[in-house]
Amino acid sequence: MTSFKSQHVLIVGAGLAGSLLACSMARLGFRVTVAERRADPRRAGVLGGRSINLALSCRGITALRREGLDGQVLADAIAMRGRMLHDPSGTLTFQPYSANTADAINSVSRSKLNLAMLDAAAAFQNVRFRFDLRCVDVDSDAAAAEFRVEPTGETVTIEVDAIIGADGAFSAVRGAMQRTDRFDYSQTYLEHGFKELLIPPARECGVDPDEHDGFAMDPHALHIWPRGGSMMIALPNADRTFTCTIFWPFHGAHGFDAIDPDDAESVREFFTRRYPDAAAIMPTLEREYRINPVGSLVTVRCSPWQIGSRLVLVGDAAHAIVPFFGQGINAGFEDCRILVELIEQLGELPQAIERYAQVRTIDADAIADMALENFVEMRDTVGHEAFLYAKRIEQTLHAHMPDRVEPKYNLVSFSNIPYAQAKRRGEEFAALVGRVAEAVPLSESRALADDEWRARVIRHGERLLGLH
Ligand SMILES: Cc1cc2nc3c(=O)[nH]c(=O)nc-3n(C[C@H](O)[C@H](O)[C@H](O)COP(=O)(O)OP(=O)(O)OC[C@H]3O[C@@H](n4cnc5c(N)ncnc54)[C@H](O)[C@@H]3O)c2cc1C
Repeated sequence: MTSFKSQHVLIVGAGLAGSLLACSMARLGFRVTVAERRADPRRAGVLGGRSINLALSCRGITALRREGLDGQVLADAIAMRGRMLHDPSGTLTFQPYSANTADAINSVSRSKLNLAMLDAAAAFQNVRFRFDLRCVDVDSDAAAAEFRVEPTGETVTIEVDAIIGADGAFSAVRGAMQRTDRFDYSQTYLEHGFKELLIPPARECGVDPDEHDGFAMDPHALHIWPRGGSMMIALPNADRTFTCTIFWPFHGAHGFDAIDPDDAESVREFFTRRYPDAAAIMPTLEREYRINPVGSLVTVRCSPWQIGSRLVLVGDAAHAIVPFFGQGINAGFEDCRILVELIEQLGELPQAIERYAQVRTIDADAIADMALENFVEMRDTVGHEAFLYAKRIEQTLHAHMPDRVEPKYNLVSFSNIPYAQAKRRGEEFAALVGRVAEAVPLSESRALADDEWRARVIRHGERLLGLH
């Protein structure tokens, strides 16, 4: 294989994508500098505090596995095998993610994941981290980046063979690329924002600790409280807590501006009315609601992802998406895997950068669209009878013909097929499910025994696929 030893690569951003990529590039032999605007989280304890998690699925795990990091990351992960829907009266409905019970998404601690990536990268002798360096400009022709040293304000320039922007949704590297000719860029905010809240361990909120192994609710599900235009979700943490996230519009009756965070009584009253079962196990709700900030949700698209063959973007810097498919960092880690595989295949970094930018944009657009669509599904349709019925048909057909049909959720979360293909195949299958639901309607299904219903669904599905 080509030796990359003489080549120096600068990665801007030591977040999740930047530090994983540092591991891969170092393994290939590149000299790697990682410049990060924050202080070193391993020393400053910046990442401590609240438990914030994210859902890691097949694409992220595949990328981690390539670097031998999957075992360590998954050791603490909690598998979530489906959605647990909480209706306004507190009634629960479990919806498995897949007909295959082994399929699950994994709740992992965001800060632990970041520390694991940083430690893994720092273990390479050919990686150098430089913290407190904020990128302020990039010269794509010279592959040079200018930084402000955060504590002193002085300016530092780093010149290398190639620059990789892994500096997140508000990327300074992308900002510099935007000033070049024929660079397309769009940024769209949702009308909704988010705020994180907490459900403590069972013993702290009056739930029998033996019921769910110390958790206040079943930890092996992603909990959703769909409320039409708004929703709350909760993912489990290894410390037996759940991190809840409310996704509400900024304005309106169920919006952030309708509830004064300093009015503890109104906060409690609102949650007791709209999320009664959750409110009952959130003893610190009023405090959390008051002190935790409201974040905004943005979709960023840009093209091309590279300028020439010495400047390229990965992760949120290239494609920030809304979090409703749980794919942001899964897509970011997949970027890193694909770029590294191309370097290995082509044996040259410049060619790999150009090829990566060509093949990947279409997939990022597809997951950005699917993430937006999934918000409507999660906050609204997921609780409808017709939706649950379609899911039942979908899983019946998938279990019967796993090689022929696969739901979009599975293709996105439990496979590595390109997102654009997952979207197309998922839509085709959804259309087929719709036609089976017309042939075997929900109203008739109630009168059918399970076996008979299943046989009819399979017969219609096979016929529509032209199998008989
Ligand atoms: C509410 C919410 C829930 C989410 N849930 C999930 C989920 O369940 N699953 C999932 O896969 N994804 C999820 N995501 C998305 C996920 O968090 C992001 O996709 C991921 O963090 C992006 O990683 P990144 O490394 O590209 O960028 P970041 O994590 O943003 O890292 C960028 C790094 O660059 C540094 N930086 C920024 N600017 C500069 C600069 N000028 N100079 C130097 N350094 C700089 C930053 O300090 C940071 O360290 C969620 C997002 C949100 C908002």
